[in-house]
Amino acid sequence: MANVGFKPPHSGEDSADAASPFDASGALSQLPGIGPKRAALLAERGIVSVEDLLLTFPSRYLDWREIKAIHEIIADETAVLAGRLVNLNERPMRGSRWRRLLSGWLQDGQGARLRVVWFNAPPHLRQRFAAAEVRVQGKVTRAADGHLEIVHPEVYIPAQDPPLALQPSYRIGDLIGQRLVRAAIDRALAAAQELPAAMPDEFRARLQLPSLAQALRYLHQPPPEADLDALRAGATPAHRALAADELFAFELALELEREHARQRAGISFAAGSVMADRFIDRLPFKLTAAQRRAIAEIRADMQSPAQMNRLLMGDVGSGKTVVALWAAINAVDHGYQAAVMAPTELLAEQHYAAFQKLCGAPAIRCALLRGNLPAATRRGVLDFLRSGAPGVVFGTHALIQRTVEIPRLGLAVIDEQHRFGVFDRVRLQALGPRADMLLLSATPIPRSLARVLLSNLEVSTLEERPAGRPVVATIIAAEQELDTVWSKVRQEVERGNRAYCILPLIESDDRQDMAVTTAAADLRSGALAGLRIGVMHGRLPADEKDAVMREFRDGKVQVLVSTTVIEVGIDVPAATVMVIMGAARFGLAQLHQLRGRIGRGTQPGFCYLVADGAARRKLKVLVEKTAGAEIAQADLELRGPGDLFGARQAGPLPLRYAHWIRDLDTILRIRDFAREWLRSDPALSSKSSRGARKALAHLLEAGSRSALFAG
Ligand code: ADP
Ligand code: MG
Repeated sequence: MANVGFKPPHSGEDSADAASPFDASGALSQLPGIGPKRAALLAERGIVSVEDLLLTFPSRYLDWREIKAIHEIIADETAVLAGRLVNLNERPMRGSRWRRLLSGWLQDGQGARLRVVWFNAPPHLRQRFAAAEVRVQGKVTRAADGHLEIVHPEVYIPAQDPPLALQPSYRIGDLIGQRLVRAAIDRALAAAQELPAAMPDEFRARLQLPSLAQALRYLHQPPPEADLDALRAGATPAHRALAADELFAFELALELEREHARQRAGISFAAGSVMADRFIDRLPFKLTAAQRRAIAEIRADMQSPAQMNRLLMGDVGSGKTVVALWAAINAVDHGYQAAVMAPTELLAEQHYAAFQKLCGAPAIRCALLRGNLPAATRRGVLDFLRSGAPGVVFGTHALIQRTVEIPRLGLAVIDEQHRFGVFDRVRLQALGPRADMLLLSATPIPRSLARVLLSNLEVSTLEERPAGRPVVATIIAAEQELDTVWSKVRQEVERGNRAYCILPLIESDDRQDMAVTTAAADLRSGALAGLRIGVMHGRLPADEKDAVMREFRDGKVQVLVSTTVIEVGIDVPAATVMVIMGAARFGLAQLHQLRGRIGRGTQPGFCYLVADGAARRKLKVLVEKTAGAEIAQADLELRGPGDLFGARQAGPLPLRYAHWIRDLDTILRIRDFAREWLRSDPALSSKSSRGARKALAHLLEAGSRSALFAG
């Protein structure tokens, strides 16, 4: 597997010194209160070592600094109050014999009272709090009877257990108790001095950042004067210190990988191919200048004896597929096999069909390998692949199953590469260790950032849209204008076209399926009555997603109500309208991607961004600009590089903290530090590289998930 030209150390060198209290990379059971049962619970969340625990940050902070008097508070504020709990009273809840309600009053020194309520309180709560002097925190609401109350307040008895001024709260606290987590972390922090940083001190000093130990202590036990907003926003020097350390290791890995790739043997495909050029000549359209440039770059890479690692980046609809097909034919013409892997069956089918259509003559053998093939067909495809005969195979994940052998794989193409785990790329490449790799992505990353995050890949971009594409008018609409929007949708659909309605839901939201279904039902019985409306969301099984997309493509579904899962690469030329609800909640780059799904046929498209108020201003960029790269740049300026580190943008990068660095300038400096460091210590063998070696070993471990380090 992974090999970046050095060996991560295995000696005892990196474990704790004998003098230290315990080993930070060691098991959690060294910590107070964590026995085998709790350790097992935490292990399920991926928290195995003391270090893992230290890197589990609070999900929020409770501010106990300012105590208010009860008579001052108003409904809907979150307040800290002090007093005694009196008249605590437990009774069954109305309508449910099994659920019980604990309620009572918080009475402060001035005699003012506020009601406190718990549903299903554990039995000990009443005894523990009865008549004690307490601190209470929670959101104040006005009950139906007019009293102010706090439901499920946080309560501390300061005499026994004073809360920190800024009290961290952990998600895993639900699992093993907040108090216990804090105690364990407190003990673990004692070991944090010896977490070696990847970034040598001199660079850290140049960026004026605290040490890792200081940073961790700050995040877990913020000092009373800490800036709470900055803490919550991940914008403290402590956050930046962790992010910088991670990025430094990452940039080292990219530099090493780049060096390694340069030495890796590939295949040298002779300069060109008559067959591939004939394919281009016979296309029913003329290539854009950008496509020709990309082909020239790929041609040069394929000709070189080193392995190609190229990313072809271009807006949706910019025509990446024909470029990839040119490369595939080039490989085939030199006697090799080519594989094109797509994230869904529908896309794989689409490429397969495009290839057959565009290649016309049966001169080149091709096959489709997907999940549910009849046994005999499947065997036929596998035999064809195993034979090593030149040809192109299109497929999904099915291509990287164990039974597949492609002995003369010369070129591997991955479409929508950001949709695959980096692990998948490694597995595809493992089918042909010398094969050239071409990755396709419709996610624009500003050049500046690509230079840093993808510096181990060569990048070609298709900035230009093919000529003759219809324009997509982008219209910012207010909620009150929705009637007009829906009548436009109806009008387009009645002309035989198709429409998308996108809801601003997060894919991880448990209720997304319900929200989508409800929205669809509302449209069916309201504004879009009589139209055939389908739904799509991340919770649908893959085959149902495919089925819905097919129905939409074929017109059995006319309006698709969906979260953002709708297929990026899918070509539905009849889709001419898109309505994006709550548009302000999306990033500009993401809106641009969504909008790319319409205007792919011959008719003009209409994209409605529904938003109210101030948010409308930022959306103007989309009305004015149509080039993905420009919009990505605007996004970068607006929001900083943080979001672009997200898995969706750059492909699954093994970065957990990097988004805490907001400015590109720092990112570039860190890359330069990494280069500088490698010049002075190319093998990372010095004592000051100890932390870097350890961090790289970590990345390599994750490297099973990362093609960056594929050997
Ligand atoms: P994407 O880059 O999003 O993968 P595709 O490769 O699917 O885009 O191309 C979108 C459509 O544009 C396809 O139908 C394709 O045949 C067509 N196309 C590609 N290049 C050109 C061109 N130079 N001129 C006109 N149409 C083109
Ligand atoms: Mg595509």
